[in-house]
Amino acid sequence: MTNKYTYFIANWKMFGVLSSLKLIKKVDFYLKKIKNKNFKVIYCIPYTLLNKYSKIFNSKYISIGAQNCHELDTFGPFTGSVNSKMIKDAGAKYIILGHSENRLNGDTNLIINKKILSSLKSKLKIIFCVGENFEQKNKKLTSKILYNQITSALKNVKKFNNIIIAYEPVWSIGTGKIPKKKELEKNILIIKKILKNKYSKSSNIKILYGGSVNSKNINDLNSISLLNGYLIGGSSQSSKKFIDIIKKSYM
Ligand code: PEP
Repeated sequence: MTNKYTYFIANWKMFGVLSSLKLIKKVDFYLKKIKNKNFKVIYCIPYTLLNKYSKIFNSKYISIGAQNCHELDTFGPFTGSVNSKMIKDAGAKYIILGHSENRLNGDTNLIINKKILSSLKSKLKIIFCVGENFEQKNKKLTSKILYNQITSALKNVKKFNNIIIAYEPVWSIGTGKIPKKKELEKNILIIKKILKNKYSKSSNIKILYGGSVNSKNINDLNSISLLNGYLIGGSSQSSKKFIDIIKKSYM
């Protein structure tokens, strides 16, 4: 790669304690050595770490984000929940919404829409995940699923400059499998077409790929010029693996 601006977004999932800070410090040390700083690294981490980490890592090229929120932006009787205002108050700049692991836990397109509207109101930047599961892929329903996910979740969104879309085929998350280049390009183009047809102001939305990104497949992925970067789960929990992905993108 790469002369274009590339996002490397870490999704730590349920991983990390206060001392895991050292992992990001190692990545930060490496990033400082890259001359051409046309990248953005965002660590989406557990709620428990947001406040501490965002005090340390809100530089130009590393930012901190959360991984989900409650759909309401007021306080309320929702034991164990955290809303977008609380996340913003803790110092986060970004938030992942619509992740398939949270869809499995009950996040419908309607709830995701409420979370997106609440997070935009709280001035968070959104990494909105979409993607089909294995059965839907086999039944050739991908384009319909993407249409439903995008149009329901972006209902009543007026400005798109704080939204990034991560195309994450569910069958690819944590499995080591990634789509073939042609299939990935086709699905990114479907997403672009949906956006273009439905939302005239969405032409600058960045589109990322997520699902089993690692240092072995990153070169192939980097050859897809339609992509603006990656959402990276498992491989972001190791500073070495994460650095290797970035390194290969900038060699
Ligand atoms: C994810 O959960 O967003 C993800 C991309 O996971 P992995 O990289 O582990 O497949």
